[in-house]
Amino acid sequence: MNAITPVDKTAATADFFTGPFHLTIAGKLVEAKDGFDVINPATGKVLAQAPSASAEQLDEAITVAKAAFKSWSALSYDQRQVYLDRYADALQENRDDLVRLLTLEQGKPLETMAAPEVDQAISYIRQIAARRIAVEIVEETNSHIVELHHVPLGVVGGITPWNFPVLLSLWKVAPALITGNTFVLKPTPFTPLTALRFGEIAQRVLPAGVLSVVSGGDDLGPQLTNHPDIAKISFTGSTETGKHVLRAAAGTVKRVTLELGGNDAAIVLPDADYKAIIPQLFWGAFGHQGQWCVGIKRLYVHRSFHADFVKAFVDYAKTVKVGDGLDPDVGVGPVQNKMQFDKLKTFLDDIKANGQKIVLGGEIDESQSGYFFPITVVNNPPEDSKIVQEEQFGPIVPILAYDDVDDAVDRANASIYGLGASVWGRDTNAAVAVANRLEAGMVWVNEIHTQGVDIPFGGVKQSGLGTEHGREGRELFTNAKTVLIHK
Ligand code: NAD
Repeated sequence: MNAITPVDKTAATADFFTGPFHLTIAGKLVEAKDGFDVINPATGKVLAQAPSASAEQLDEAITVAKAAFKSWSALSYDQRQVYLDRYADALQENRDDLVRLLTLEQGKPLETMAAPEVDQAISYIRQIAARRIAVEIVEETNSHIVELHHVPLGVVGGITPWNFPVLLSLWKVAPALITGNTFVLKPTPFTPLTALRFGEIAQRVLPAGVLSVVSGGDDLGPQLTNHPDIAKISFTGSTETGKHVLRAAAGTVKRVTLELGGNDAAIVLPDADYKAIIPQLFWGAFGHQGQWCVGIKRLYVHRSFHADFVKAFVDYAKTVKVGDGLDPDVGVGPVQNKMQFDKLKTFLDDIKANGQKIVLGGEIDESQSGYFFPITVVNNPPEDSKIVQEEQFGPIVPILAYDDVDDAVDRANASIYGLGASVWGRDTNAAVAVANRLEAGMVWVNEIHTQGVDIPFGGVKQSGLGTEHGREGRELFTNAKTVLIHK
């Protein structure tokens, strides 16, 4: 077993942005024998080294979390709320550094994307901390009473992707902790640094073992999903990996919540004030470099104004600067990693090979060192093309024409995915009627990407299993336990 080397917690963090970074296990900052490079996608250069936990270190984190579960789950909601509020305060104190680190490792524009992500995560913790799942009386007679309790599960393992490393992680951590579970988080190796820092900050305010953050290579995920002492896996990532998680969870009948891929359609109805909504549609698709799980990935626009729409959309897109997220004028940053950048190129190659029409972008400047992908708009490619059928997860979006609404609905629904969707039209009732026919976990009508602590969020079909947020989401961090009492 590798030695776990505690680091003096009072020692000044040498550099918040470049390290050193530590695992957090048993309330301590811990070094790993090995490390791996984390790349700044705006420069293509190494930003920092992250620790690569050994199998023994992950095991230790889980063992300690299991021990901590005993006392943490015995606390009342009010007591756990005090801890979570303190955690939110501690994160707030480090807010500016976390925001900057997020842009450095992820690439997203600092003011418009990284800052709101960190702020929303902190606010989310405070709001979740105030939520309760009360004991319910489901039946009462003269002779007996039946209570329904929601009891914590044990140790929850969190596995997260690289698009929203702070928000998506804390969306899992906060509800797990307030309901009485302890947590071991494994961030993606592409963006582990902010998670390692908020793990470190957690050790100052939370009891040892309640939240551990353990970064590392590809073998850590399966180790977590196969571990007998993990009661639940809360996973956000691709559908393919989600299937691995589901299979692994079967071994010990773990609870799973899976937030997976999507191919969200936006339908612009014939009566839409289409010019007025172009900024919302543009940012819904290209905001965050198109790397939203619920980003608009296919735009269906009524043929009566399709040509006009495409022109106005492209004109708007031309006003947006692509570049380093640290530059305040930049609206679209780099793609997060080389693997994703290369994947996007395969979409471009396919579009070009099939003679589909690119009306903006499409040419990559290969001399640049960062992973900058131009804002690319594809005009009305065939419905069965790769860019329409697959999840591109990047700044390249098709604008498709349709003739009748039934056809648009059928095409939107003809997907293995069912994450989000949106409908846009002047007649709200008509738009809602269309929304009701879409096979998706979340459908926005004349707005996009609104989320909240009490708004259930999750996909249908191969976009996911279970939900996050809302009472439904919080309950998934608990077991229902029925207590039947003879009076
Ligand atoms: P990914 O599936 O490649 O990786 C996600 C996480 O799983 C990473 O931490 C990775 O290290 C880990 N992992 C890899 N193999 C594993 C295995 N066999 N067992 C356990 N864990 C394993 O996803 P990504 O490329 O990081 O993220 C992009 C994807 O995430 C897109 O498909 C996107 O749509 C999806 N996503 C979904 C949501 C949602 O809420 N539905 C949100 C954000 C991203």
